[in-house]
Amino acid sequence: PEREVDAARGEDDIAEASLRPQTLDDFTGQKASRENLAIFIAAARQRGEAMDHVLLHGPPGLGKTTLAQIVARELGVGFRATSGPVIQRAGDLAAILTNLQPRDVLFIDEIHRLQPSIEEVLYPAMEDFQLDLIIGEGPAARSVRIDLAPFTLVAATTRAGLLATPLRDRFGIPLRLVFYTPEELRQIVSRGAQKLNFELTHDGAEEIARRSRGTPRIAGRLLRRVRDFAAVARSGHGPVDRALADAALARLEVDSMGLDGMDRRYLRRIAQYHHGGPVGVETLAAALAEARDTIEDVIEPYLIQEGLVLRTSRGRMLGERGWRHLGLVPPARTAG
Ligand code: ATP
Repeated sequence: PEREVDAARGEDDIAEASLRPQTLDDFTGQKASRENLAIFIAAARQRGEAMDHVLLHGPPGLGKTTLAQIVARELGVGFRATSGPVIQRAGDLAAILTNLQPRDVLFIDEIHRLQPSIEEVLYPAMEDFQLDLIIGEGPAARSVRIDLAPFTLVAATTRAGLLATPLRDRFGIPLRLVFYTPEELRQIVSRGAQKLNFELTHDGAEEIARRSRGTPRIAGRLLRRVRDFAAVARSGHGPVDRALADAALARLEVDSMGLDGMDRRYLRRIAQYHHGGPVGVETLAAALAEARDTIEDVIEPYLIQEGLVLRTSRGRMLGERGWRHLGLVPPARTAG
């Protein structure tokens, strides 16, 4: 990816597969979701039935795919993955569904990007494990009903609000993933370093964690960058500490809060062109030449959680922390 702190999946993230936790116990953080899943998994196993459908929602890179895989493994069933934009025709989905074994997990990433006509195929499949297909065209067309093996749909989306209500209502287990705490990320980074055979001090891990925007995918990526930097900077001697991690991250232009050039451009835009806002997201997207979805799903969630930006009914506003992070003084508040 162009941005080191981009939570969206990138090429070098194939390397991240080796860092993926394999069991629910191995999975750090997301306590509420983990506890919920453990109960549903145990119950489904006891009954020998397919588990209820799960909707995972939250910003990218927090572990939705990882959790879906873990669910399948803990249920002891097969795992099949696809994504909303990949399924182009109803027949594509039908082929996937008819190939599932009883109780299998089907993972659909970016389910909000499924076409409405395909969503309709999904409804009876989710509800009654049935498929209604139209065979042929024109006057010769007829509809056939196919029974499917009971399965568990695990779907992921960046925002649950993007889903049509009838679809959202068909998930018995909706789970919201949240940003990880610095300590959770520190544990993930330390464990990742071990797996990579890379000596990293507690302080060093803390520094990487603090600058990972609450996101394991970013933590993994920064960890690998720091490792590369350290290998060259001190030709592989001794553990990497905070100072070295800091030097590596500074060189990547990842600042003390984990923000990169794109985040700072976004913040400066609101400060300098809109006097701190409010400004509409469309205006910002156009000015920054970014897709509105990227702004809303990738850039904003962390800035909002950290109070750098406020989402108001009239648009985005720079929060007090946003001004300070830019090294600027917030304008005096007008009375009223
Ligand atoms: P997207 O929404 O972009 O599909 P995602 O939420 O599905 O992302 P994953 O692909 O599951 O994210 O995880 C991203 C990376 O972060 C993976 O390399 C995974 O190993 C790591 N990761 C995620 N959650 C954890 C965790 N709880 N502990 C350790 N590593 C994790």
